[in-house]
Amino acid sequence: MELEPFVFRRSGRLLGVRGAPDGEDAALMEAVNRYALRPLGREEFAVFTLDLCHNQVDRHFSRFPEEELERINDMTPGRPLLERHDLRGSLPRGMFFRSSLHHGEERVSVRPDVYVMRTVENGDFITNIEGGVYRETSIGFSFRLPECGICGKDLRTCEHIPGRSYGDKTCHFIMRDVMEVIEGSVVSSGSQGTGFVPGARSAPLEARAALTAAREQFHQPIELCSPGLWAEE
Ligand SMILES: [Zn+2]
Repeated sequence: MELEPFVFRRSGRLLGVRGAPDGEDAALMEAVNRYALRPLGREEFAVFTLDLCHNQVDRHFSRFPEEELERINDMTPGRPLLERHDLRGSLPRGMFFRSSLHHGEERVSVRPDVYVMRTVENGDFITNIEGGVYRETSIGFSFRLPECGICGKDLRTCEHIPGRSYGDKTCHFIMRDVMEVIEGSVVSSGSQGTGFVPGARSAPLEARAALTAAREQFHQPIELCSPGLWAEE
């Protein structure tokens, strides 16, 4: 049976505005100009650093293992920065041009830098970030395997429910086989930034709903005719 990949979103935050400390400029200019079609001057763009995702169990009872964070870190440069995950309506606001893994005491996070051109149209966007009004971010990505933290099986095929306790352990799932980093977004403050889309890029579901649907699909017996259809009438 072919199991569909998940397309999830995870919230992060803007860490700050990168000025131009001496010594960093040359490396920064080189990294940005790898993406530009003509050499840019430092005054032409703003640079922001994001805390995009990390290795801790989050409120959806999921986490990235460190090796998947390494993959995300490798895949993020070259991806667009959008507003509110709007893949259809508007053009990107910025471009992720480099990324590094940040090791805290227990927390490992992916921290990419993004540049935004100082065009007239981006003026308000940049001002709102610099002013601390736009500070929530969200990453859109796809992955194949939700591994159960209790038994190690594909969560769709076992009986454990994320968030529920089993002995002294609370079930969470480990997101493995990250396939793609789709985009990073600036989202409005207070937004959950956590739409969940199993297999498609529309109709976001809650995490639990997405997993439940996938689990039901996996366990569903093959039926030629659904008896429920007739019982309703
Ligand atoms: Zn399990």
